[in-house]
Amino acid sequence: MENIGASAHAMPCGEVLKFLQSDSAKGLASSEVEARLLKHGPNILPSGKPRPLWAIFLRQFQSPLIYLLLVAAGIALWMGRAEDAGVILAVVLLNSLVGSVQEGRARRSMESLRRLSRNLSTVRRGGERISVPAAGLVPGDIVELRAGDAVSADCRLLEVRALEVGEAVLTGESLPVRKITEALDADTPALEQSNMVFSGSEVTAGRGVAVVVSTGLKTQVGRIAALTREARDLPTPLELRIREFGRWLAASAVVLFFVLLALGLARGMAWHDILMVAISQMVSMVPEGLPVAMTVALAVGMQRMARSGAIVRRLSAVETLGSTGVICTDKTGTLTGNEMTATRIWLPGVGALEVEGSGYAPKGSIRGRLGEIEPGSEAVLRRLLEAGALCNDARLVSPEETRGHWKAVGDPTEAALLTLAWKGCVDVEELQGDWPRHAEIPFDPQACLMATGHVRKTGERRLLLKGAPEAVIQRCGAVFSNGEVRSIGAAGKKEIEEAVQDLATRALRVLAFAESDKALCGDEGFSSLGEDLVFLGLVGQMDPPRPETAEAIHECRLAGIKPVMVTGDHKATGLEIARLIGLAREGGLALDGRELAAMGEQELQREIGHVAVFARVQPEQKLRIVEAFRSRGMVVAMTGDGVNDAPALAAADVGVAMGLKGTDVAKNASEIVLTDDNFATIVKAVEEGRLVYANIQKLLLFLFVTSLDEVLILVGALIGGYPLPLEAVQILWINVVTEGVLGINLVMESSEGGAMRRRPIAYGAPLLTAQMARRMVLMVSASVVITLGYFLLAIESGMPLDLARTSTFTLLALCQWFNVINCESSIQSALRLRILKNKWLLCGLLLGGALQALVVYAPPMNRFFYTVPIPPAELCGLVALASLVLWAEEVRKWLFRRAASKREADHSPLCEPSQ
Ligand code: ADP
Ligand code: MG
Repeated sequence: MENIGASAHAMPCGEVLKFLQSDSAKGLASSEVEARLLKHGPNILPSGKPRPLWAIFLRQFQSPLIYLLLVAAGIALWMGRAEDAGVILAVVLLNSLVGSVQEGRARRSMESLRRLSRNLSTVRRGGERISVPAAGLVPGDIVELRAGDAVSADCRLLEVRALEVGEAVLTGESLPVRKITEALDADTPALEQSNMVFSGSEVTAGRGVAVVVSTGLKTQVGRIAALTREARDLPTPLELRIREFGRWLAASAVVLFFVLLALGLARGMAWHDILMVAISQMVSMVPEGLPVAMTVALAVGMQRMARSGAIVRRLSAVETLGSTGVICTDKTGTLTGNEMTATRIWLPGVGALEVEGSGYAPKGSIRGRLGEIEPGSEAVLRRLLEAGALCNDARLVSPEETRGHWKAVGDPTEAALLTLAWKGCVDVEELQGDWPRHAEIPFDPQACLMATGHVRKTGERRLLLKGAPEAVIQRCGAVFSNGEVRSIGAAGKKEIEEAVQDLATRALRVLAFAESDKALCGDEGFSSLGEDLVFLGLVGQMDPPRPETAEAIHECRLAGIKPVMVTGDHKATGLEIARLIGLAREGGLALDGRELAAMGEQELQREIGHVAVFARVQPEQKLRIVEAFRSRGMVVAMTGDGVNDAPALAAADVGVAMGLKGTDVAKNASEIVLTDDNFATIVKAVEEGRLVYANIQKLLLFLFVTSLDEVLILVGALIGGYPLPLEAVQILWINVVTEGVLGINLVMESSEGGAMRRRPIAYGAPLLTAQMARRMVLMVSASVVITLGYFLLAIESGMPLDLARTSTFTLLALCQWFNVINCESSIQSALRLRILKNKWLLCGLLLGGALQALVVYAPPMNRFFYTVPIPPAELCGLVALASLVLWAEEVRKWLFRRAASKREADHSPLCEPSQ
């Protein structure tokens, strides 16, 4: 079984199967699968394994900041201050440890989430058809391939029906390749073997059955992959901006370093003292915790999105979602539940009939205007129902099998036709047995058609066509009415079109049916059907909106996001559903594919703002829609499920693939996969995206305030001619404790609730908003006045310098704790105790408190940190004093809330864009 991969193309199918000891109908037995899995290993490529913790730990040392600290430690040692050097080294270690634990955790959870979006394959095993993860494929497995599937192993084809495969990943050739099953010359080069499909390629059309010949590293891509290096996660745009921000901060830290040094020397301080302080200060200003905090924030966002049903495949989507201004969404299954019920029928010469009952249960009858249907129309009705039941790939599952209600397996549109046939007293099973299918052209969303060919034992033939009315009518030359076939004529066509319009404006999805007695050859496409089919009638199906859709649409509106329906369905149907859910309002335009095609780029860009529904849209046109919105500077999310949606999904800022009915091709082209195909999930994901952004802003605000506090206190004391209020190691300590234990936890904040009442975050808008800057000024002034004021008074009143410094040090730490509480919300009062909701931050505060107590009260620490115990009464005073920082912000928040409620009274639903 070893080297079959190299010769399978030259062997006939039967021989390949014999060699692999497999059976094309039944597949492998499960015991055999296990044995082979052990022998050949799982079907995976050794991709970039998650980095071990120690590697992440070592990487933390590769930063200019660490080098700086090591220089500082060197200077301390050289000056004979071994304790200082020890403290600095401890800080370095602690810093790296905290950073690597956080980052390691974030990366692991991201990796495990990504695994959720891996591809599945349909295989035949032990006589059944099952879905298995691609990793579980073994040589000899029989896989079924359909348009949209990703191929996950190298396989020899056994059966093909118009099978076309895109092999761009392997060959770079973007045109799909037609596949065959016949054996080829033994010396055909691997990538030209048209009776093989290779791992990494994608089925673009048709279907096929194939037997796996090689897996994992033995596949063609496996050989290539073995040579290439691991793929790495590219930084997201926000990460890049944060990095730039960090560089900018680092540059200002260097400037401040020289300012402090100059000031200190001018004051006649010992140069090594001021050098140590200046270095510590510089180190504190560098936001080294920020990249790690970003990773954590994005990972947390990803987890939250996964919990609400959106699997993130590319990290950048987390933040892009927050800026999304347009959501272009499918109708069927996304806005609606994709639970079809045929509720109305239209027959030529008879008119409309109503269908009773709901769901897939074959209960209820079909009624005409005068009650039960008239005898004359029975034959016409029967022909239509039979066409629906035969030109059909779905199956109904009875309540006995599911222990619930009747369910649909396969396309719900088709399942509804089975239910309809049963209701019309057609025994579907008998019918399908009587008219076996010998050829088919599978449903093609571009043509909106599907055709099947059937031959009875008597030799009678029947070709059936079903699909979108326009497409079907085009191919009809006659109608079947009153039991006879008549030429259709222009008037007849017009009558049908009016009937279609009538059904569609009732929000029904309309299917038309036609037949002929020609033979069907599946390989030639719909053009081979000719234009002389016999029109049978129309079926209108109801697909009610999901219950949560209307609410989600409303939410979008409040959040300044434009929802747009992009559907393959009829314009009137789309528009009616859009009205039902509040998506189309007064003045909302509907365009269909033809109107769209007739529009120039500029006209489209001008009009697109008013369009609520795009109907009968070809997948290629989705790309135009995406581009038109983007040209207006909007961030676009676009949903899709089919092979042809892939270009639009890739072009959109956020491609959203359907997890349930979507193809592998669509998923691989998307940033996000919805596990429930639900529109409301996209809206929830947008909210999470905004939350991530808001939390990063909170963290930035806090980091800025901390850094500025320290600088201003040092500079202030130096200018006033006072001794330094903080020791170098104390500055480092505040840096490590406040950033590592407190600040980082701000990215774990939960939603404040108002995120979806603001406009989308403008793409590339400054991270630091004007409001944040104003808050910064307030918070910094409060803590600097308090801390520096306290220190100066303490010195003036003759407090020993050691105690004065320890108290100032503690006071500054306390101020940061109140600041972190301030940063939790820009509007809500801290007295509403948000802190209790963020367990991480609460633990951080407690841990920080314990550590500070340790530094102040534990004798060995006193030596390292130049601290002395603070009398308890004094400590209480310090806490009260530091809390002024909180009260200052409380007053501002109160004023802000008052102004906001006034603004709300003036009916302006949107407030400042973010924060
Ligand atoms: P949507 O955007 O609502 O998902 P589709 O692309 O699935 O629409 O379908 C577009 C049109 O194709 C439908 O309006 C219908 O007329 C036709 N159609 C849908 N499913 C089938 C099918 N299984 N067989 C034939 N025609 C179909
Ligand atoms: Mg569809």
